[in-house]
Amino acid sequence: MTATIFQTSPIATDAVYLLTDSRQLIFPQQTLFFAIKGVRHDGHQFITDLYQKGVRQFVVEQNSLTDSLLTTLESFENTQIWTVESSLKALQDVAKQHRAQFDIPVIGVTGSNGKTIIKEWLGQLLSADYRIAKSPKSYNSQIGVPLSVWQLNDTHTLGIFEAGISQLHEMKSLQEIIQPSIGIFTNIGSAHDEGFRSRKQKVTEKLRLFTQCKQLIYRADYSDIDEEIRLILKSVNPKCELISWGSAENALVKAEWHQDTDQTYIVLNSVLEHYDNQLFAIPFTDEASVENCIHCLILMLTLGIPSTEIRQRVARLRPISMRLELKEGINNCYLIDDTYNNDLVGLTIALNFLSQQEQRPHKMAILSDLLQTGQKEEELYTQINTLLQQKGVQQLIAIGAAFVRNAHWIQVEASYFADTDDFLTKFPLQSFNNSLVLIKGARPFQFERIVHRLQQKVHGTVLEINLDALTHNLNFYRSRVGNDTKIMVMVKAFAYGNGSAEVAQLLQFHRVDYLAVAYTDEGVLLRQNGIELPIMVMNPTASTFDKLIEYKLEPEIYSHKILDEWLNFQPTLPLSDEEIDAVYPQVPIHLKLDTGMHRLGFTQADLPLLLYQLQQNPSLKVASVFSHLAGADEAVHNEFTRQQFELFSSGAELLEQTLGYRPLRHLLNSAGIVRFPEYKLDMVRLGIGLYGVEVNRLEQRSLQQIGTFKTVVSQVKHLLPGDTIGYGRMGVLEKESFIATIALGYADGYDRRFSKGIGKVLINGALCPVVGNVCMDMTMVDATGVNVQEGDEVIIFGNDLPISQLADQIGTIPYELLTGISERVKRVFYKE
Ligand SMILES: *Cc1c(COP(=O)(O)O)cnc(C)c1O
Repeated sequence: MTATIFQTSPIATDAVYLLTDSRQLIFPQQTLFFAIKGVRHDGHQFITDLYQKGVRQFVVEQNSLTDSLLTTLESFENTQIWTVESSLKALQDVAKQHRAQFDIPVIGVTGSNGKTIIKEWLGQLLSADYRIAKSPKSYNSQIGVPLSVWQLNDTHTLGIFEAGISQLHEMKSLQEIIQPSIGIFTNIGSAHDEGFRSRKQKVTEKLRLFTQCKQLIYRADYSDIDEEIRLILKSVNPKCELISWGSAENALVKAEWHQDTDQTYIVLNSVLEHYDNQLFAIPFTDEASVENCIHCLILMLTLGIPSTEIRQRVARLRPISMRLELKEGINNCYLIDDTYNNDLVGLTIALNFLSQQEQRPHKMAILSDLLQTGQKEEELYTQINTLLQQKGVQQLIAIGAAFVRNAHWIQVEASYFADTDDFLTKFPLQSFNNSLVLIKGARPFQFERIVHRLQQKVHGTVLEINLDALTHNLNFYRSRVGNDTKIMVMVKAFAYGNGSAEVAQLLQFHRVDYLAVAYTDEGVLLRQNGIELPIMVMNPTASTFDKLIEYKLEPEIYSHKILDEWLNFQPTLPLSDEEIDAVYPQVPIHLKLDTGMHRLGFTQADLPLLLYQLQQNPSLKVASVFSHLAGADEAVHNEFTRQQFELFSSGAELLEQTLGYRPLRHLLNSAGIVRFPEYKLDMVRLGIGLYGVEVNRLEQRSLQQIGTFKTVVSQVKHLLPGDTIGYGRMGVLEKESFIATIALGYADGYDRRFSKGIGKVLINGALCPVVGNVCMDMTMVDATGVNVQEGDEVIIFGNDLPISQLADQIGTIPYELLTGISERVKRVFYKE
């Protein structure tokens, strides 16, 4: 039977899985794929691929239905295709219909911060009373919400979903999909301010989530939220019971709290009896956790959970790390640490991440039972089996009674343990070797104990790298250059200090077009870590040509000398002559023109000879022609930049005439992408911007800081006026002081120019200036008046202390600071 093409909605599907990202396909036969056209990706490009993998249901957009796509679709067998105006809207409509079938309480959470934590905590706190469907991770967007709600099935008795918006008019559809009966408005901050005319407009938009709620919980101390609720929500949804809490005058529930060292005592009082005279102790002391916790307490009281129960449950709450961390483990292993929960969608996300990583050949997973899925065990464990097989897991360690019971559904090599203790006592941990290990368990299994045992001990200083921020920054530049310009990412110098293999993995996953490194060895390292993208080497030397060819790296040719060496090169490779003949002339090269930078490149004067040489050697394969701007970030050089462009264009033109074909042209670096979009040509070369620094300082707000450089306090001393600190007695105290020694020195990359008060570090939120000279492995800072203890965390740079600020302090540029962080500093990668 051939394809059936429907031109009408609604979409009547028997699919079990909805898919929007082709890379996440797991169960083709049961999947409905929505081809969504975004700014950067077009799902329609992956339809054929998905069909070949077995997908038989597609939603496509009328506007993207070209003749050739239509012909392709018509050739599909046994396939259902729905053509719609907007695939995103179709996805949302499917989710709405699905939601309408369930008549259960649903909690909808929105606000600037805390949504995911509150949702996860409620999931834990209420798991004894309900079978819960909740958003995986932070699935709270226009796509994430429908996918979350789609999880609802007959066994669930409660839904908890979060909703996040970045622009006007987005909340209406989320409300229609979630249809919450109880709302939580967490708080309001500056996130996504740029999408709205005013704070007030943002609050009003968020309130649309609650237009059908029977109850709404919020903190009355946020007066802008309180006002809008009383003014706007009350007029749209007059029956909604407002359960406001806080210290504000008009709060329905008065909340007070005080902290001791590791707990906070919360007292609630109210005219309503079930909120009155309640006392709880929670194991947190920071403001954000206290606020998130009180939202949960009020919600549980609203649901009628007895206070004695609530007291016991909140006492056991633990901080939730939403991160998926990539850490170095014992015996050359890599660990993916995702220990805070385990559900099917979360597991899928984690396994996707595992399958993207090519650092180690052997892939393992340590998994706990999945709790509360509401699915039949047979169905669930066959799905898990398929997932493990599809994502290339070679060895499984399964922990928990349900896994043991269902071992017969698992076809991957596996060992089973009754609980975490059983595993830790029986399994020879030293047998983990050279593997990539995903560790993912539901909360009660306490898998952090496993991570603790398998993790390589890091000395207190780390550079944490936020992979989501990297993705965000990549997407920013992608949206700037559009679909028709390729992106080459510069991962030279250890990806600007951030770790080249890991960064390159992520870039490969996000399908950038090219990578570039400075030296051949850097390229070899990437190949050894499973990177298959084309890689340009900017500074190749004749002595490394063999390696270059062996590892399929592409040289930059910038002078007659290097061109001659390349042309006369006799490969001595572990390959047969035929193989060499087949490979060597095919190696693409990149021609660099010097248009004013005067570093590497053929000058104007070199061109005639270069043209002649190209003519004489028609087998040379020129993949690209490029040049580099000397002052793209400074307006005073605009005229010079324009001249560089003109010179480059005419040079490239001549080369093309001689070659008879058109290699890629590229000119712009990060600064140039922002300031000279008209010169984006066929490709741009993205560097520092990806790593979070906008050197023009025009678009810094559009980027996210990717790195946090931190260490710990080794010792604190109480010293007196006249005491001196460090070598050369350079720090002289004028008053009684508390001096903290931190575990970081110039050998770690903390520049000696930060000595004597020039550098400042953050300890517990306070800026502490360096006292005396920075030493090789240690530095002393003045922490007088700061609540500091040995072992406390010290931030060198991060979100609250931008790296550009540090660079300014010592008159350098962020490039130097980033690339100067020494290799002995452990890099820890994470995803939110
Ligand atoms: C490093 C480099 C870039 C990237 O520069 P950024 O300022 O980091 O964006 C681009 N092109 C060449 C030739 C480079 O060496």
